[in-house]
Amino acid sequence: CGIVGVVGKPARDIVLNGLKNLEYRGYDSAGIYLNDLNGHEYLTKAVGRISNLEDKLTPDEQGLVGIGHTRWATHGKPTVDNAHPHVSEDGRFYLVHNGVIENYAELKEKYLSDVNFKSTTDTEVVVQLVAKIAREKDLDGFSAFKEALKLVKGSYAFLLVDDTEPSHIFIAKNKSPMMLGLGDGFNIIASDAISVLDQTKTFIDLQDGDVADVTKEEVVIENLDGEKVERKPHTLDIDP
Ligand code: GLU
Repeated sequence: CGIVGVVGKPARDIVLNGLKNLEYRGYDSAGIYLNDLNGHEYLTKAVGRISNLEDKLTPDEQGLVGIGHTRWATHGKPTVDNAHPHVSEDGRFYLVHNGVIENYAELKEKYLSDVNFKSTTDTEVVVQLVAKIAREKDLDGFSAFKEALKLVKGSYAFLLVDDTEPSHIFIAKNKSPMMLGLGDGFNIIASDAISVLDQTKTFIDLQDGDVADVTKEEVVIENLDGEKVERKPHTLDIDP
């Protein structure tokens, strides 16, 4: 029930610490995806405490991009396979999600009857749908994500990584909390600002319907139709 993403800084400890700071939201399992931007990527998940996840990570599993998740299961039991991040069948897209996809069964039946699902979550439907749209329409990851979201009904805070373009984190928000923290040479996304206050105090409050392409230098916020949206950052004057 929490998400943390980092781009532009060694991501592993920032993500894990952020997830620990989000423990108060409750969770049953946790997971992290790391990409070192040098051809290596790591996906690790564990049931139970975040320390179980840490125990599974080897020292060389590091990244300059990372997305992490604590799960409060709504669809599917709390198992390793059902823990996030979820990965598309082609291995290209990695997704974490807080919220509930209301029309996941329809989406699965209508568009994804040929896909082998690894989990029984509502979330995996979305990552498989993004991959399918990217492949069939030959779209870049951000465009495929926006196309997929036009079909998705429900609540979500999403972080998506396309491993053909791993220096970007694509994000979307609807009725689940998500903040965008702006750093010097890095950017960070989290369910709340408090969980990452040791990294930055400058935040954008994303609004429902916002999607964004986040790299270490830049944040481009749009709506689902691809129109640019202006969101003013503000500074939180509190100590971590
Ligand atoms: N509905 C998703 C699941 O059950 C996400 C739950 C959450 O917000 O942690 O996997």
